[in-house]
Amino acid sequence: MSVELPLRCRCGYVHGVASEIAPSAGFRFVCYCKDCQAFAHFLERPDVLDAAGGTDIFQLPTGRVKLTTGRTAVRCLHLSSKVFRWYTDCCRTPIGNTAGPRFPVVGLIHSFMSHEADGQSRDEVLGPPLCRIFERSAVGPLPRNAAPPPSLSIFAFRASRLLAWSLRGLGRPTPFFDDFTKAPLSAPRVLTFRERERWQSTVLKRRRQEAE
Ligand SMILES: [Zn+2]
Ligand SMILES: [Zn+2]
Repeated sequence: MSVELPLRCRCGYVHGVASEIAPSAGFRFVCYCKDCQAFAHFLERPDVLDAAGGTDIFQLPTGRVKLTTGRTAVRCLHLSSKVFRWYTDCCRTPIGNTAGPRFPVVGLIHSFMSHEADGQSRDEVLGPPLCRIFERSAVGPLPRNAAPPPSLSIFAFRASRLLAWSLRGLGRPTPFFDDFTKAPLSAPRVLTFRERERWQSTVLKRRRQEAE
């Protein structure tokens, strides 16, 4: 059974909806990479990260996500040119990550999901995370109930899902890029080398503090 998942930034200016949501209709994982952590720190939203610095992400076809209000407040950040990191300017809520106009997938970040509406927990709606990645960059001990490290079968499963989405054309229309010109909804802000160093060193500092 699939549901409509309401999407909402913290202040409520930006709203959206993700449709046909079910554990089998996406791929949930926790990412401990430095860039995901730097993104949360850049937004001054370390609360989005778990105690070990992980970001809870649900990948789904981009065509199933719609932004219904507040599109003008949506912004984009490049920590690397490959990943478009979307957030809201009104209250600095992380929305999710995409890989470009042609890649049919968005990794929605839990901070933009609104479960209160139907009283269902994230686990009930999305299923538990299937794996964790980049745990070497974790800033603390992983929680006891952490998702398992990725296995070959999990990678194969994800690859087959992505291929199916791509073949079925589920990546479009995307709310993040213009369908015709392929231009991003908001021009990506590219951090200077120094800014990037600063946010990444915030992550390292936090890791050192946790280790003490
Ligand atoms: Zn907001
Ligand atoms: Zn990451």
